[in-house]
Amino acid sequence: MKTISLLGATGSIGTQTLDIIREHPQEFRLAAMSIGKNIDLARKIIIEFQPELVSVQNHIDYNTLKAEFPHTHFTYGEEGLIETAIHKKADIVVNAVLGSVGLNPTLQAIECGKTIAIANKETLVTAGHLVMEAAEKNNVAILPVDSEHSAIFQSLQGEKEKNIERLILTASGGSFRDRTRSELEQVTLEEALNHPNWSMGAKITIDSATMMNKGLEVIEAHWLFNIPYDKIDVLLHKESIIHSMVEFHDSSIKAQLGTPDMRVPIQYALTYPNRIPLPSNRRLDLAKIGTLNFQEMDFGRFRCLEFAYEAGRSGGTMPTVLNAANEVAVSAFLEGKIRFLQIEDLVEKALSNHQAIAFPSLTFIQEVDKETRQYVRSLLY
Ligand code: MG
Repeated sequence: MKTISLLGATGSIGTQTLDIIREHPQEFRLAAMSIGKNIDLARKIIIEFQPELVSVQNHIDYNTLKAEFPHTHFTYGEEGLIETAIHKKADIVVNAVLGSVGLNPTLQAIECGKTIAIANKETLVTAGHLVMEAAEKNNVAILPVDSEHSAIFQSLQGEKEKNIERLILTASGGSFRDRTRSELEQVTLEEALNHPNWSMGAKITIDSATMMNKGLEVIEAHWLFNIPYDKIDVLLHKESIIHSMVEFHDSSIKAQLGTPDMRVPIQYALTYPNRIPLPSNRRLDLAKIGTLNFQEMDFGRFRCLEFAYEAGRSGGTMPTVLNAANEVAVSAFLEGKIRFLQIEDLVEKALSNHQAIAFPSLTFIQEVDKETRQYVRSLLY
């Protein structure tokens, strides 16, 4: 039996993690969880899974839930998130919170020797050097939950890092993969939120449409697998059947395939190195699919991907700026304040406004994050 602390329980990855716990009551137990503001869903989860510790975002919700569930321990805010991450009964922390707020709890959980199943991209993007160093020092495994990184991780089982020629991340192309650059000028929020293959949260769906999601994944892959950027490629593959690949020096390529269902990589992170059935999953029928398509990535069409490579290569604080600017820009787009292509304009402005500082501390990263958000917001009004 593995005991889980789930950060971001009411989000897309969070609820799918709960599906897996529900399907395997002999294997997993939810010990602690954090939620944002969705206290209606939180109530249902508390009743069904009975976690000992629940962290909410604000004090009002904390008081409300505390009165309703006298036998559950509640906490709130950033401190609450950390308390949830280091909950002493948890063996494994699933970090599925949105944004850079996931960073500090991850570092604290690593210090406490917890296995980390990481779905929060921002943690590795903004502080990959700190996270991987702390993980090594504390002998802690960082297990990828993202489908691409899980595919690479699975393909690397039994292989040596020194034998890797390159990583090939596949990209579905998002909601606008068949549109020209000029057509992108006019696209609406509704169209952007309509992803062809994956059902995900709003932020990541927009990031898929701008290709920033793939850019963040390139940076994530760099840190997770310790591979230089010129050995990480992105390939358009619209069916999302091959979730990513590894090429070795002898030209062999290993890939992981499956139907696009996030519960597979989530479950693999929870059961690693073991595998157990996932009864509700649709099995892959290759004969029925017939053809898989691949296409070279167009960096001119998807400028955010280019920005991410540049920010990753510059290193230091640059990926923090990339991520923070993107978070503010995507929020503004979701609120209907800017047009789709303005997302990349804002990210570009923030990057050119910043001078990278190498090996930033956590405090410095948080400072740069805050400054970048202020800067991008100042461009909005
Ligand atoms: Mg992904």
